[in-house]
Amino acid sequence: MAVPQNRVTRSKRNMRRAHDALVAGNPAECPNCGELKRPHHVCGACGHYDSREVVAQANEIDLDDEDAA
Ligand SMILES: [Zn+2]
Repeated sequence: MAVPQNRVTRSKRNMRRAHDALVAGNPAECPNCGELKRPHHVCGACGHYDSREVVAQANEIDLDDEDAA
């Protein structure tokens, strides 16, 4: 098994990790509802893509509905 020859100092470790930060995506505005969405992805808020609805959205979920149980 490979074993490190020298201890990496906190300084060198942190210098290496200085470039490890994740960068935020490039959100685009949904042309249908205006929510921010990932580019080239279906809108998570309204289910539209390319100006048409491709994922049906439930209007409202009634949690107090007794018939559901
Ligand atoms: Zn949308």
